[in-house]
Amino acid sequence: MPLFKTPAVILHTLPYGESDQIVTFYTLDFGKMKGMAKGAKRSRKRFGSRLEIASYVKVTFFEKETSNLVRLSNCDLIRPFEGLREDIRKLAWASYFIELVNEMTAEKIQNKPLFRLLVAFLTFIDRGSLKEEVLRIFEIRFLSCLGYQPQLDPCIHCQKKLTGERFFFSPVKGGVVCSACAPSLPDLIPVSLGTLKTLLLAHTLPLEKVSRISFSPQSLKESRALLSSFLQQYLGKELKSKKFLEQINGNAEFGMRNSE
Ligand SMILES: [Zn+2]
Repeated sequence: MPLFKTPAVILHTLPYGESDQIVTFYTLDFGKMKGMAKGAKRSRKRFGSRLEIASYVKVTFFEKETSNLVRLSNCDLIRPFEGLREDIRKLAWASYFIELVNEMTAEKIQNKPLFRLLVAFLTFIDRGSLKEEVLRIFEIRFLSCLGYQPQLDPCIHCQKKLTGERFFFSPVKGGVVCSACAPSLPDLIPVSLGTLKTLLLAHTLPLEKVSRISFSPQSLKESRALLSSFLQQYLGKELKSKKFLEQINGNAEFGMRNSE
């Protein structure tokens, strides 16, 4: 019976029976997986506290013919992200990333860029980069990793290059609409040229610069509305972690102070 070993981030755990746990984890090599951790609640030696949400670990598992859950045999800590467990705001941010990944990925589809994105952004949060920009950059890059990158130029309706200053975003079509096409389309979100440029930059910015970038207040407001409604198209529901995040940050408009 072959053993597999791969880096993973713990997405979700569910107690099962008296001593077991069903664990959902996102791996570098196999994408999202679900496994049974036998005796996880008893055996501190094999699993300890390593099966906590957002722990970055190396899992060892094997496949069970009789089950669609793999069997976890071991779990070694790579990075505990202790900061996330010591600060409720950090935990709220990390939970949002984790829930997005859990809700929007299918099992057993390898996506190494997505895995690396998740680890990089959990690291930012662990170190205290709680700027709203970090949330927005995660969202747009996450969508791109899944192949859902919004089209920011040209107009998604007429395919003409965007000119002028005022544009609109169509969450249903997944792209920007020019002012000539706008009157014929429903449910549009106004978006300025500055915000489009900011989102393009957010997409290509080297990771080491992410926690230093600042959006203008208008770009923050517009990108928040645009990405939230676009994600909603795919999720079809409000995430629990998003509500938690909004409560933690003080108001539903996501008006956040920067902690840096
Ligand atoms: Zn157009």
